[in-house]
Amino acid sequence: MKTEFIDLHSQLSAVRSEVDRAVARVLDHGRFVLGPEVDALEENLGSRVGAHCVTCANGTDALLISMMAIGVGRGDEVALPAFGYVAALEAILMLGATPRFVDIDPASYNIDPACLEKSVSRKTKAIVAMSLFGQCADIDICNQIAAGCNAIVIEDAAQSFGATYKGRQSGGLSSIATTSFFPSKPLGCYGDGGAIFIQDESMARLCRKIARHGQSSRYHHEVLGMNSRLDTIQAAILLEKLKIFDSEVVRKQQIAEKYTEEFELIDQGLITPQVSKENKSVWAQYTLRHIQRNEISRRLNEQGIPTAIHYPLPLTETPYLKKEKINSSPISALVSQEVFSLPMHPYLGPEKQDLIIASVKAVI
Ligand SMILES: *Cc1c(COP(=O)(O)O)cnc(C)c1O
Repeated sequence: MKTEFIDLHSQLSAVRSEVDRAVARVLDHGRFVLGPEVDALEENLGSRVGAHCVTCANGTDALLISMMAIGVGRGDEVALPAFGYVAALEAILMLGATPRFVDIDPASYNIDPACLEKSVSRKTKAIVAMSLFGQCADIDICNQIAAGCNAIVIEDAAQSFGATYKGRQSGGLSSIATTSFFPSKPLGCYGDGGAIFIQDESMARLCRKIARHGQSSRYHHEVLGMNSRLDTIQAAILLEKLKIFDSEVVRKQQIAEKYTEEFELIDQGLITPQVSKENKSVWAQYTLRHIQRNEISRRLNEQGIPTAIHYPLPLTETPYLKKEKINSSPISALVSQEVFSLPMHPYLGPEKQDLIIASVKAVI
């Protein structure tokens, strides 16, 4: 059997009959948009995270809506890590604001608070703390820095839903957080989906309004909004998948521990992922670093072991950005040359994992 990078097929087998029944219930009641499952999901996720929850169409919209609610616009700066996924950058640029790239901490791959401190100013309206690869960024320090310049921290928790930081849930650590339910994310649906987590009730109402065409009541469009909703069918699927979510995370933790135990024995320039004591990762990715990343990946792929590169370029090198304005982020640039990720999902059996470990050892 083929080794999958993320095995959604096995996951579906684990919940298939429950998902079939849940989808059938939606087809029967027919409230395909903003149906009762959406409310139930928002209730469930909100109480889990410790915030008000507003679902939306995807994780990118969640970031855009959050920034619209904060009032990010022309003349504002938004700080974000120079290494990570492109969605926050898109939202910043779409609103006409200026991205302020901040280098990362090479141990966690998350935003480096010391660099952040130097990047903020009176112009900073928001700070995007991306919790990459399943591990929360150092949000308390980000919150402190934000308080000093009157900015709001948005935790991009697309890869960290279910993770904890100092015992608190990712998504509930800052004024606003966003997540994605793209199928391969820690909590994924079977299509696109996203959510925003908000501490302040009136800010939560504003996010909801923006996601519903800025409506206060039907056809009264009070603020500039958009159409961004989670389908009822996806909400119904997520409610079923939440039932196995915690055990999936436990299994991924075991797999990650075994990988790291074995790889730490190889002393050939292979850098294993570091999870700080205050964090519990949900292992959205199991990401290694090596100076010969390309060669290693190629040879693993030849042996039938899929690898992925998250991310091959720092965000500062996004082709459509005007280069001259961008300060360099050396750690982000280096890391994007060296990282590669191995298969990581709850359905990776011990034999498969042993095979992957043996191949990595042989190749290196
Ligand atoms: C996937 C992802 C997003 C975007 O989510 P979509 O649902 O695909 O729009 C945003 N940020 C991070 C860190 C992601 O991994």
